[in-house]
Amino acid sequence: PRSKLPEIKTTIFQTMSTIANEVKAINLGQGFPDFACDETLIAAVHQAMRDGHNQYPPMTGTLALRREIANKVLNLYGVQYDVNEEVTVTAGATQALLTVILATVNMGDEVIVIEPAYDSYIPSIQLAGGIPVLVSMNYQDGRFAIDWQKLKDSISNKTRLILINSPNNPTGVCLHEQDLSTLAELVRDTNIIVLSDEVYEHMVFDGQRHLSVAGHPELAQRSFIVSSFGKTYHVTGWKVGYVLAPAELTREFRKVHQFNVFTVNTPMQIGIAEFMRVSDHHQHLSNFYQQKRDYFRAGLSQTPFKLLDVEGSYFQCVDFSEVSELNELDFATWLTREIGVAAIPFSAFYKHQQENKLVRFCFAKQVSTLDAALERLAKLR
Ligand code: PMP
Ligand code: GLN
Repeated sequence: PRSKLPEIKTTIFQTMSTIANEVKAINLGQGFPDFACDETLIAAVHQAMRDGHNQYPPMTGTLALRREIANKVLNLYGVQYDVNEEVTVTAGATQALLTVILATVNMGDEVIVIEPAYDSYIPSIQLAGGIPVLVSMNYQDGRFAIDWQKLKDSISNKTRLILINSPNNPTGVCLHEQDLSTLAELVRDTNIIVLSDEVYEHMVFDGQRHLSVAGHPELAQRSFIVSSFGKTYHVTGWKVGYVLAPAELTREFRKVHQFNVFTVNTPMQIGIAEFMRVSDHHQHLSNFYQQKRDYFRAGLSQTPFKLLDVEGSYFQCVDFSEVSELNELDFATWLTREIGVAAIPFSAFYKHQQENKLVRFCFAKQVSTLDAALERLAKLR
């Protein structure tokens, strides 16, 4: 039988977590918090179930949740998305991304992907019959930066979509005003759509603020914006997220969404909406994660790893060239099995192997977990 994705193996996150569980390593690989979500959120979901909200919600998501999302976006980015026509609740960001791509990319269309890139992007494009056009970030002196000239040169008359991700997984770099205005300039007078993955929007450090594409009127009118409650509310296993887009784009999105999942589980939507109504959790998240970042970095500075800067996200990337000559996948596997700390190799975020020696750690962990991991990593010389 012909495979639709001949080169694709089991995703790195599943693979590394399986090894980590098998050898009882401390799992700083797959990105998920090891601490509880807010008790109010759990209570709100329980209440929704007990109140009998256990049948299908509307295809687009519950009205209460769409309202809360639109309010949050208005408060943060100063833009009003229409609750009925421009906000859709999804089964996490992964489904949102795939559905946007299926809804917009035709056979043979090109989609520009900036590498390193989250691992679902390329297979999603291939499933739609699209052609991923890879633009790798520059990596110099331990810093990643988008090469806008390279990106410009990659645009053709077949370009349908440009995918961006800020704060970026895995590098932790963020887009700045200048990046957004350059992007706007590149797509002006074209039909190119922008797909902006903003799942880490509430984790931005050192007094910077997240620049959502929503807040850039010229880009917003041609953009899908994807976010995820899993990241924001410490509930990655709930798989609830959302998509914002102008009405015309949302109509196309929903044509696919309704036959992809149709809708998303009711009690979580009601619980999240209620939590959003009463809580300002997201406003404290950057602070919360900045402390974890700083704590983890202070510990790592006692190891031979070279630390990359982290502007946003809950990932710390390190260069391990002083520790090992193994390639990234072999090193991450060795670190998990022999040192007992799981990491994600950067090679998982590239289509073609790079020369770098980089792995990614997730610091969304209790201090005791970070301490235990740092104690093991301190053995490295
Ligand atoms: N995009 C990025 C950049 C991510 O890091 C993740 C989660 N790892 C997702 C999308 C998927 O989010 P979700 O779990 O809500 O599907
Ligand atoms: N987003 C998470 C990460 O980058 C994991 C997602 C997944 O397990 N598919 O680690």
